[in-house]
Amino acid sequence: MADCLGIGPGSVWRVCIIQHRSYGKTGLKVSALGFGAMRRPFYGGDRDKPGDEELASACLHRYLELGGNLIDTARAYGDSERRVGEVLRSRREQVILSTKNASLAPLRYRPGYVFTPDLWQQHLEQSFEALGVDYIDLYHVHDLSWEQYTGHFAQPGGPLDLVQRHLDDGSIRHLCFSCHDTPENLIQLIDEGVFSGMLVQYNLLDRHNEEALAHAHERGLGVNIMGPVAGGRLASPSERLTGMLENVKSVPDIALRFVLSSPHVSCALSGMNDLQMVEENCATASREEPLTPEEHELVVKTLEDCQRLLGLYCTGCGYCLPCPQGVAIPDVLAALNLERVWGLTDSARRAYRRLSAGDKPRDASLCVECGECEGKCPQKLPIMEQLREAHSLLSVE
Ligand code: SF4
Ligand code: SF4
Repeated sequence: MADCLGIGPGSVWRVCIIQHRSYGKTGLKVSALGFGAMRRPFYGGDRDKPGDEELASACLHRYLELGGNLIDTARAYGDSERRVGEVLRSRREQVILSTKNASLAPLRYRPGYVFTPDLWQQHLEQSFEALGVDYIDLYHVHDLSWEQYTGHFAQPGGPLDLVQRHLDDGSIRHLCFSCHDTPENLIQLIDEGVFSGMLVQYNLLDRHNEEALAHAHERGLGVNIMGPVAGGRLASPSERLTGMLENVKSVPDIALRFVLSSPHVSCALSGMNDLQMVEENCATASREEPLTPEEHELVVKTLEDCQRLLGLYCTGCGYCLPCPQGVAIPDVLAALNLERVWGLTDSARRAYRRLSAGDKPRDASLCVECGECEGKCPQKLPIMEQLREAHSLLSVE
């Protein structure tokens, strides 16, 4: 494929056109890198910080110029659908458009909440209007769980019947779902045979969906990945991760290459909010072979070594809670693990700072060493000592 020149703030990259892959059995060819329009400048945010609409548009146009063709948004992402719609006006046929209905999460958190088919229809119409389109390529049930599917979505007269009418008239081309449920429940959703594709989490730090990805691929579903850089945690430098192979440019580079080296993945969605990120991610996704089989084996071996280390540390079970002083013990130790296991110091410090911020800090400085938590920890961790270590390593600016 032809080279083209990328020019970003202060830099010039020579990049190739992004690779394309089949999206399950739909007949669609999606670019290996998808544009996740969920961050600023797409989201919009509050009135005081409205986000930068021009930047949003420039990032999307550049992504499309470099061969990207999948844009993912959602009803729940603030102003994102409207901002994506502005760009689509001149390029609708070039784009595989992915969006999601408003989240089903209230069903979980508000007992008695009813998400009727009428409300579904209302949300769908709002998406068409905001996007300025008359069809959606990939329409996702947002954050679907097995419980919601069986108890609500697929009930007779429920949202599935409504969606079916839109599939029949072509206004929805393919029904998909995004999911944070357990791998076992994810496999049950796949096996229902109702969906053409799914959007799930998978990255260097979190491989618990690996088997489900293979299962979905085998059953002919398109597989899109959210969080290939672990929600930004893999955006921080780490010699342990970049040092795994010789030819790695950055942690996001190896993180994306790892996800794309799975033969079961159609597309990795990245929330790109500046031009440099667009250029760099597109360059990574233009590799014909993201990792050779030998490189992949080496990466997996390093990850397994790291996972073994994790087994020695906090598992996040929460049995030590509540702490009478309000220390968020598992969260503090999770931040410490980012540093000790993965070498992601900046991300670990950011995570720790979030625990120290606000009116109700929950960081390790609150610990009075009463010892109550240690007796409850099944790992028999020296929690007090680890909290001291976390505070001294991570409270540094
Ligand atoms: S030792 Fe510290 S963290 Fe543990 S329960 Fe006591 S105050 Fe909380
Ligand atoms: S009980 Fe131990 S392993 Fe579980 S969250 Fe607390 S410190 Fe971590």
